[in-house]
Formats: sequence, structure tokens, C-alpha cells
Amino acid sequence: MLRKPEDRASEKGIEIHMANAPRPLVAGNWKMHALGEAGDALARGIVERWQAMGRQDVDVALCPPATLLGRVGRLLEGSGLLLGAQDCHWEAEGAHTGDISAPMLADAGCRVVILGHSERRQSHGETDEEVAAKTRAAHAAGLKAIVCVGESKAARDAGQTATVVETQLAASLPKGVSAANTAIAYEPIWAIGSGRTPDMDEIGAVHARIRTLLANAFGASEAFSVLYGGSVAPANAAEIMTLDEVNGVLVGGASLDAGAFCEIIESCG
Ligand code: PEP
Repeated sequence: MLRKPEDRASEKGIEIHMANAPRPLVAGNWKMHALGEAGDALARGIVERWQAMGRQDVDVALCPPATLLGRVGRLLEGSGLLLGAQDCHWEAEGAHTGDISAPMLADAGCRVVILGHSERRQSHGETDEEVAAKTRAAHAAGLKAIVCVGESKAARDAGQTATVVETQLAASLPKGVSAANTAIAYEPIWAIGSGRTPDMDEIGAVHARIRTLLANAFGASEAFSVLYGGSVAPANAAEIMTLDEVNGVLVGGASLDAGAFCEIIESCG
């Protein structure tokens, strides 16, 4: 039995009026996949289906690898689909071999950037403080940051989900965060690429917690996009999107299939 967001929120002493929620945001994280022609074919497939859908009530971002930003960006021109990146440096320029700055991403046509993904936190040792600095840099460049948080399997098993998510969130969001410049993605690490997801009540509870934190720190939590990510697929997207606290999804594997990704978009709204 699902609890209503109002019930979950009232346990935390805040009021959530999800009627004021922004329209859903669906972001596709291509990760380190696709060479030029395959990226073109995927982007074209998504643009064609998106145009056939004629949806005006969902925001959609494609986040290809940096090497494809230029060519995918050109294919998205005029489509209404947003170009996004998967990371940025916290400085605008400098001696940082191999890194890409937020102004460079904006210059390449990006509107959004995923920050603090668990794969970067784990493989590159990214700290919450670095994620906050990157988020600040994204804002300064006019990009919307999608800041990722989520617990490991061990933390979940130890009943630490809420603590981990709250700690990450509190330290990963700089001053100046607003619903216009930041979205949050709750991505349990153990759910990413595993085909497993938390049950709906768990997702709703964590999202309610995130909204409580946003409300306390930045006000008007209902205005924020709070996405769920981790094994989102056509088979589960609609159910996840029925949760009132969830207004979007961050999609990894399924975003590499134009048909599957567009089925997910169709289930939002
Ligand atoms: C991700 O890594 O952001 C993600 C959501 O991956 P997947 O959908 O493949 O679980």
C-alpha cells in the first residue's frame, strides 16, 4: 500500500504541494558508449520518435560522451531535445589535462550536466565537496546541474540509506541552488545496471526525504525536479512515474535504445 506524498512529508513536518511540480525531466546517460555513426543513428532515432510523439509536456536531455557533443548537438537542433554532458571541471579554464569545463560545455551547446554520478564518485574518487564545486561551476556557466546521490548495497543493508543520501546531498549542493539551476537524481548504486530497483514505497520515501532537505535548505521543494535513476526501463517507468514525489528519470542502459528510451518518455506526464 503506497503512502501519499502528503503523508510521507507530514512525518517530516513539511508540506509538499506537488501540484506546483515542474514538468517531468527524462535524461539519457549514454556513459562511455557509442562512436560517431552509432551515436548519430541513436540520436536520429530518438529525434524521429520524439517528433512523432508531439509531446510538449516533458523535458528530455541526451547526455552523450564528450566526443559526440558536437555532432549529437547538431542533430538535436530545432528538435526541442536538450543536449547534456556527463561531468565538468570545477574551474572555468586552466592546466587540467583531459578535463572539460562548464563554459566549454555551454559553448558546445549543452544545457544540462550530470554531476556526482556514483561511477565518478567510485572510479575517480569524487568527493561531495568536488561535486559542490562542479555544481557551482555549472551554474556560473548557465547549465542545469543534475546532481546524483545514492547509497551502496552495504549501506542499504545496514539501514543507512537516508543518512547516506542526506549527507551526500547536504555536502554536494552549493549556495545558490534553485529549482531552475539544479535537479537531483536519486540513484541507488546497487540498482544501476543491475535490473533491480527499490520498491515503490522505498523510492517514494527517499524522494520525500530529499524534498524535505531541499525545502529546509532552499525552500519550495516541490519546484525541484527530483529524478529516480537505476534500471529504469519501459516495463517499470510508468509505475515509478506514478509516485508524486518523482518527476523524472535518469536512464542509463535503456537510453542506448531509441525505442526503449522513447517508450520511457511516453510513460512520463
Ligand atoms: C545511470 O547510471 O545513471 C543509470 C541510471 O544506469 P541504468 O539505467 O543502466 O541503471
